[in-house]
Amino acid sequence: MSTSVPDTVSPTVPLGGPTLPQERRLVTSIPGPRSEELLARKAAAVAAGVGHTVPIQAVAAGGGVVVDADGNSLIDLGSGIAVTTLGNAHPKVVAAVQEQVAQFTHTCFMISPYESYVAVAEALNRITPGDFEKKTALFNSGAEAVENAVKIARKYTKKQAVVAFDHGYHGRTNLTMALTAKNMPYKHGFGPFASEVYRAPMSYPFRDGLSGADAAKKAISVIEKQVGVDNLAAVIIEPIQGEGGFIVPADGFLPALVEWCRANNVVFIADEVQTGFARTGAMFASELFGIEPDLITTAKGIAGGLPLAAVTGRAEIMDASHAGGLGGTYGGNPIACAAALAAIDAFENDGLIERARELGALLTERLSEIQAADPRLGDVRGRGAMIAAEFVDPTTGEPDAALTAAIAKACIAQGVIVLTCGTYGNVIRFLPPLSISDNLLREGLDVVAGALKAA
Ligand SMILES: *Cc1c(COP(=O)(O)O)cnc(C)c1O
Repeated sequence: MSTSVPDTVSPTVPLGGPTLPQERRLVTSIPGPRSEELLARKAAAVAAGVGHTVPIQAVAAGGGVVVDADGNSLIDLGSGIAVTTLGNAHPKVVAAVQEQVAQFTHTCFMISPYESYVAVAEALNRITPGDFEKKTALFNSGAEAVENAVKIARKYTKKQAVVAFDHGYHGRTNLTMALTAKNMPYKHGFGPFASEVYRAPMSYPFRDGLSGADAAKKAISVIEKQVGVDNLAAVIIEPIQGEGGFIVPADGFLPALVEWCRANNVVFIADEVQTGFARTGAMFASELFGIEPDLITTAKGIAGGLPLAAVTGRAEIMDASHAGGLGGTYGGNPIACAAALAAIDAFENDGLIERARELGALLTERLSEIQAADPRLGDVRGRGAMIAAEFVDPTTGEPDAALTAAIAKACIAQGVIVLTCGTYGNVIRFLPPLSISDNLLREGLDVVAGALKAA
């Protein structure tokens, strides 16, 4: 099928990426022959553990589409897992990277410091929540940032235990696997895991029916009884859980946890790797809940697709480590830092927070309509351009992973990239780039609605 509806992006947002026609266009089945060829090479050359969701060979992306080697143009409702929030190959990011790559590509910040790293630290100290003195350290991936936040909290408190939550996701390295809740596919067979990691119950309003205060009381009781505050260095939580199913905690849950941490010399770490940088309709999701974390981990959306991550937080905590205790060969690479400065400039000055809210309203309205007509869509939740649909058996309320997988598969076959998530695999998450047009997003949601009806 070919759709050639003329389409423009919102005037508040510059068109990201090469100026690709903003359309869903299928000229072959998915995957087409060129994509098939690459996938055969992938199967032969790349480790089987590295999976893929969309069976295409990507060759270009921008605005709200990803184009494959066969000439298909797919609507992008995933942003490469919440990374290309700005839009793929955003012009500001492209220009900054091109300028930096021609100057120098690496010195190692721990050997010969350079300005862009310091400027990224200054920017993060300024834009993260909390009107107190902050410091930042840069790394390469979300998991690495989380590992370092835990190191820093342990060094500062001189305590060891860390509490993470049910449905939490924090990465795939050894410590972050231990912090991550879900066994398949993240942990199964990969143990033993790091020690001194404990799990507390999460506030999950759709399934636990608890108020934020009651859910916090329950979590704090588990922590006090099973861990003990004198052993506890840090609590780490995603303000809105990502892989776990876009679970938005009930009002009051996060503030109660923060208050308890503060009273007990426990470092409160907000893992904003997925929620950060305008994604939720605020620069950081912590703002939506009125909390000021001691430490914030960021990555994904930070640099328009370049690999960069950060830990930002209270200066006295960040400064607890001896010199040489933090860092890494590539951490804060100058090309990634140049990209981050361009990205942060766009987040602050190009109306992107407002755009995330607009997309959130559009997503929520359309999904709620679908829900009203079909009880298999049990819950619509999220904030800004981070919205999820949870699918259930309408008679029992049990998660329906098979239905969810069927919808996602049908959407991809029809040229709409959607991602699933959730502990029970029954959630479709919508993470469109903020550069997508309203029309393209509407068309993508029409395809989702059709796929649900047909399933
Ligand atoms: C993706 C993610 C991570 C891990 O980031 P990587 O860059 O994949 O290591 C950690 N925490 C959260 C909340 C994430 O969404």
